[in-house]
Amino acid sequence: MTGIEASPFIQVIAALVASALYVATYLSFVRLMRYPRNWHPPSLSASLATGLLAALTVALVSLSPDGLDTPALAISASFLVLLFCIIAAPAIAFRPASRPVEFLAKHGDYAGLWLIGPALIAGLAVPNIKLQAVLATAMAIELTWFFRQRWAGRGRRLHPLNDHDLSVLETQAKGDLAAFRRRHGIRELELSTGIVSWRGCGKGTSPCPFNLYVNRLGLNTAPCCREHLKDLSHHIGTGLREMGVVHWLEGGSLLGAVREGGALLDWEDDVDISVLLDDDMTWERLAAGLAERGARDGYFVDLFEKKGFISISFDQPKRWPFRWERNRLRGEIRADIAIYRQAISHGKAVLERRSYKGTMPATQSGGYGVPEEIVLPTTPIPFLGGEFAGPNEPEVYLRLLYGDFRKVEYTYLDAGAAKARAPFDVADTSIPAD
Ligand SMILES: [Zn+2]
Repeated sequence: MTGIEASPFIQVIAALVASALYVATYLSFVRLMRYPRNWHPPSLSASLATGLLAALTVALVSLSPDGLDTPALAISASFLVLLFCIIAAPAIAFRPASRPVEFLAKHGDYAGLWLIGPALIAGLAVPNIKLQAVLATAMAIELTWFFRQRWAGRGRRLHPLNDHDLSVLETQAKGDLAAFRRRHGIRELELSTGIVSWRGCGKGTSPCPFNLYVNRLGLNTAPCCREHLKDLSHHIGTGLREMGVVHWLEGGSLLGAVREGGALLDWEDDVDISVLLDDDMTWERLAAGLAERGARDGYFVDLFEKKGFISISFDQPKRWPFRWERNRLRGEIRADIAIYRQAISHGKAVLERRSYKGTMPATQSGGYGVPEEIVLPTTPIPFLGGEFAGPNEPEVYLRLLYGDFRKVEYTYLDAGAAKARAPFDVADTSIPAD
């Protein structure tokens, strides 16, 4: 054994560095989760940075002047992989996911704590202070996450469910609400008082995972989340108007404005707004304006410049370093802002975006576009109790996106759940039976 290695002081310093490296890896990883959370593949540079930090952590733990500590290498590497699978599950489950991912996402508030036992055994069995420091730091972070989620959950308030929400819920649950609640981990559903109500989310709580409840279970959007989507829409609409940005309601929000008389679709899972950038209104100006307003009014703004996309969420932005831990949450109340630019495609003036939307036609340059005259100049349209900007010809726009938009179609809903709720959603437009 060398003199350097025997020095307790050096060992403590090495343990502290290993611990700090784990924290850096963890923060980089939870930040990376903003991509799957927004249905985008992770960026290469961010993935490489996270991978490098993880590799450095494992290397520091398992290498010493004496050579390689194989048990510490095996334990630290497998521990990181396991724990990061648990941490990533809620973000990955934003898209339909495999059963194990769904399972981990459902228990995401505390699943990290399942590793406390194995971490304790490994830490006692392998006398490596750097490994012990990493395991202890990781478990301390998981404990803090668990208690913060528990604490935040106290802010939930009971909301009554209206008749329509309740009938859809009872149909999807096949009449057994308690079993349905248990099977899908619907903690918001309150049955103990004898009246069915919803323990609703707020600014300080985690959001209801309503994208899951809506898209996979076929429920209506929860009453709390509907309220928050409305507040969020008005926050963004006001901001864009104040900044003089050309914008219009898009996708499901426009469909709600036109077909549902200015309301959200019953199974709405986000708000869609599009903006037009040009030489005056650049990405930088738009991003800075939205970020400033988000910070002032308490909304989380996430920018994806390369993807031409901004997401704004209802939750209160947290301070660093907890800011990106929101990507561990199972739910999201969000508005998606898509960027359009003017272009010429096949000799015609179009407004073009990079990402696919509905059945929007492809453009010459490889994007997707709508004829400019359908959108500009934008025209006011009532939505959620206020007035928003819509495309100049909203019905033509919707036909371009969805074909026969008057017919109810469930774009993102699970097929079985959609079939079960269909009778409720055609009731308003069908001819009443005698
Ligand atoms: Zn909610």
